[in-house]
Parts: sequence; structure tokens; C-alpha cells
Amino acid sequence: MIKEIKVSTSSRSQFLNITGQVSREVSSSGIKEGVCTVYVPHTTAAVTINENADPDVMEDIKNYLDKTVPWSDPDYGHAEGNSAAHIKSSMMGSSADVIVSGGSLNLGTWQGIYFCEFDGPRSRRVWIKIIKD
Ligand code: ZN
Repeated sequence: MIKEIKVSTSSRSQFLNITGQVSREVSSSGIKEGVCTVYVPHTTAAVTINENADPDVMEDIKNYLDKTVPWSDPDYGHAEGNSAAHIKSSMMGSSADVIVSGGSLNLGTWQGIYFCEFDGPRSRRVWIKIIKD
């Protein structure tokens, strides 16, 4: 069974900590040992795991991506005008796996799961599949 989380973003580039929502899905599944796949079914968004302690880390990643992949570039061909969002989506990736152990996500102390918006604001979906060991 696939579970779905709904995410609402409020700006073009934004990282949202979804660790709590993913954790709740793991708890409600009743699965104690296994793997949790977090999957983003969008071409201009992504998911990543990184630091949840200092918010400057996620801000730095977001700003560096924006600087590295500018919104406008005369070399872009995609007529929709959001090539930068597509590029950043592929750079960050559409899925992340976390080990489930003892009924919980086995994340490192400083790790959180982040939904990455690159073409917001939008309503988005995140799919979660928890596979029993
Ligand atoms: Zn596009």
C-alpha cells in the first residue's frame, strides 16, 4: 500500500521538513523492521535528507542551488520556462530511503527529510512505501 502526504509550498524555492509526517506514516503502518521509501512524483520538486539542527544549512543549500542554476538562461530550450526547476529536481533526486528499525525511522541525530520545492508555490504530493523486512 502506498501512503500519500500532501504538501503546500509558499515560494518558488523552498525546503520543507517532512520528517514528522513520514514518521507518523511509519508508526501507523505497524511495521517494526524494514525500509521506508519517500518518493516525490513531480518533475520540478525533489526530496533530500540533510541537517535538521541549524536551519542555515538548508537555506545555504537552497541558495547555492538557486545561484548555480539560475531561473533564466538564454541556453534553456524548454518552452514552459521552468528549466531551472527541472534541473534542480534531477540534481536532488525524486526519492530517499530510510531504514525502519524498532518501529521508527532510523535517521542520524542531525538528519531530517526535506521536501524540495523548485517551482512553487504549489500543492504537492509525496508518496511513501514502507516495506517490511
Ligand atoms: Zn517544465
